[in-house]
Amino acid sequence: MSDFPSRITYPQAQAIVRRVADARRLGSERVATRRADGRILAEPVRAPIPLPPFDNSRMDGFALRHADVRGEGGTRLRIVGEQFAGYSAGLRIGPGECARITTGAPLPAGADTVIIREDVREQEGSIAFDIAPAPGADIRSAGEDVAAGEQVMTPGQLLTPARLSLASALGMAELRVSRRPTVAVFTTGDELVEPGLPLGPGQIYNSNRELLMGLLRAQGLEPTAWPSLPDDPARIEPQLRDAASAFDVVITCGGVSAGQKDYLPALLAGQGEIHFWKVRMKPGMPLLFGTLERAAFLGLPGNPVSVLATFQSMGCALLDGLQGRAEPRPRRFAALAAPWRKRHDRYEFLRGSLQCGQDGRLSVLPHPADASHRLRGAADSDVLLALPDGARDYAVGDVVEVFGY
Ligand code: AMP
Ligand code: MG
Repeated sequence: MSDFPSRITYPQAQAIVRRVADARRLGSERVATRRADGRILAEPVRAPIPLPPFDNSRMDGFALRHADVRGEGGTRLRIVGEQFAGYSAGLRIGPGECARITTGAPLPAGADTVIIREDVREQEGSIAFDIAPAPGADIRSAGEDVAAGEQVMTPGQLLTPARLSLASALGMAELRVSRRPTVAVFTTGDELVEPGLPLGPGQIYNSNRELLMGLLRAQGLEPTAWPSLPDDPARIEPQLRDAASAFDVVITCGGVSAGQKDYLPALLAGQGEIHFWKVRMKPGMPLLFGTLERAAFLGLPGNPVSVLATFQSMGCALLDGLQGRAEPRPRRFAALAAPWRKRHDRYEFLRGSLQCGQDGRLSVLPHPADASHRLRGAADSDVLLALPDGARDYAVGDVVEVFGY
């Protein structure tokens, strides 16, 4: 096989994935705002209108002129009309006058202050009160949240419900977002049987497909799974090339180690390009990354926990990069709830359970079953816990980064 980086460190691998993903940035499309959750924004969003769009009342009460407020001596104002939300009653408030107003209703001309209903006595077409509301009280001014023309979102941001709400408040029915990567998922191995079918000698059920499909769907994608591939290069090659010519990303699992039946590295070297093979991480050491046809190709190791760790780290970095996600994902850290002896040099992901103490501090209890085939340990846990390069004895209270799954 030709020359490519091998046995590189985890940070080196991350850097390569990011560089390749950046160079393969997907195009953009306009989508309905109501369907854009979880997408990555591909254009700056400027406010076509101010927010609020007009001066309006913050409370149910009466709109008045602050110049009329008498304070101690008591104020009495004549009610000249009603202004509810949703239209303009065309009122003008003159000296000694007020108008009934509801929350969100536009402020009538002449009024500059609102007094809440609970603070006034109403009698025969007028109101009386003894307190003195501050000038401008209970008014929401046009543009106080967002000024017209102001940029409120930048390309590369994740569209959260709050951001979609902001876009909606600005009247934007469509947004330009990065295209979602299309993802083809392959499991490989002669030993695999689909759940629901009888298990023969030496066979195991295919557990990685649901793991991978679930992890991808959790990223908001709609991945496509292929029937599992046998360990036969003549069968593997056409199927992978076929998928790689139609999809943005091909993810396989299994067949990337140094075993007799691990055909994927040679296939990728021959038919495509390897960007790296083997990363000094645990689990996930045989991870393979390259390009095949028009697709980015991620060859995950076969053990389920390796799939989890490599997908959550490299897979997510690849998907983020392809979509131009510029905002770093929020990071979380927790204190170890048990000591851990790390005897090797590689970057390691343990599985762990996150707990929040009475004091609000997060702690994480590493699962003792740390071998990469121990699916139960992953199922009983809720985070991956990252231990960076280098052997080290971790003590209770040492802070580590955690990644939810
Ligand atoms: P491999 O790298 O292909 O030798 O796979 C490593 C280990 O992961 C072997 O024990 C495989 O049986 C197991 N494995 C591979 N693919 C799957 C899968 N889809 N579901 C469950 N286990 C798998
Ligand atoms: Mg295999």
